[in-house]
Amino acid sequence: MKNIYDYTLSELENLFVYLGYKKFNASQVYDWIYKKRIKSFNEMTNVKKELIDYLNENFILGSIEVVERQEDIDVAKFLFRLEDDQKVEAVYMHHDYGHSLCISTQVGCNMSCAFCESGRLKKRRDLKTSEMVEQILAVEKELNLRITHIVLMGIGEPFDNYDNVMKFIDIVNCGKGIELGARHITVSTSGIVPKIKEFAKSDKQVNLAISLHASNDELRRKLMPIDKAYPLDTLMDAIKEYIGKTNRRVTFEYIMLDHVNDTKENALELVNLLKGMNCYVNLIPYNETSHIDFKKSSQERIMNFYDILKKNNINVTIRREFGSKVSAACGQLRANHEEAK
Ligand code: SAH
Repeated sequence: MKNIYDYTLSELENLFVYLGYKKFNASQVYDWIYKKRIKSFNEMTNVKKELIDYLNENFILGSIEVVERQEDIDVAKFLFRLEDDQKVEAVYMHHDYGHSLCISTQVGCNMSCAFCESGRLKKRRDLKTSEMVEQILAVEKELNLRITHIVLMGIGEPFDNYDNVMKFIDIVNCGKGIELGARHITVSTSGIVPKIKEFAKSDKQVNLAISLHASNDELRRKLMPIDKAYPLDTLMDAIKEYIGKTNRRVTFEYIMLDHVNDTKENALELVNLLKGMNCYVNLIPYNETSHIDFKKSSQERIMNFYDILKKNNINVTIRREFGSKVSAACGQLRANHEEAK
């Protein structure tokens, strides 16, 4: 069986035309599954019986299910079971600007970042496009609201699952589907240079975030093995190329790790690295996890770091902290779940 949520509108149109149906039947089906959120193809009252039969025989309407939900103020975390019994998670966050959802792109992750929970469990497989789309649909149903912002910052490296992620963006962005504005979608990468270049050419209007986390190669290499393959100068060149092509502002994520990457020297190095670039830095208070030794920088160290960037005209914000009670660091819920077994 195929999963209907794997299909972009144009793929569905092509399929229907190929089968002898009309192109507009695809828009009708899209309307039923994404606007009306039906649970069975039989509910599509304006679609021919014959096409409904075809869909029932060949397609499933989704495959993932919510197996656990944890809540705290303004945050809710969901653990999903996939059809092969693998688990991934998504985190809902309530912001003053809207309802944001952080979704997973892979089962596990191969990037092996020293501070990250997701990477402790190696990648088992990529998520299918439908499994990413369904995380949104499932959370909207659970919370009875419409998500307004998507960040691809859950478990996995989006650019290590590039094709499925690009298709996911098309489906979510489609006016006849979930209809989320491209500017409300953010893809975050640890820095896979060839994919950043490909992404620059792809003409997608979504936001790009780069997990930087260090101000020099020596330090970054210790935290993020990907730096060995793509050191900072290559990474920065690719990002400049992206900015040149798209004219879009890039976000740099920088986790604040106590006495690891949060010194005055680090801040000044960062200023040098980013000076004159169309970018902003998001300082992220580290979300401590029981399995990893890094500690979160003190409020004072974060503020000092922030001030140095600010004084040197780097756009900078400090990320609001969510959900330390709900094991909200990427991969924590899944890791706890796996270890309990
Ligand atoms: N692989 C992608 C996206 C997933 S991680 C990437 O690396 O960008 C999303 C972000 O959360 C990354 O910036 C990652 O470094 C960060 N992160 C991972 N573990 C964290 C933790 N315990 N606390 C805070 N941020 C964390």
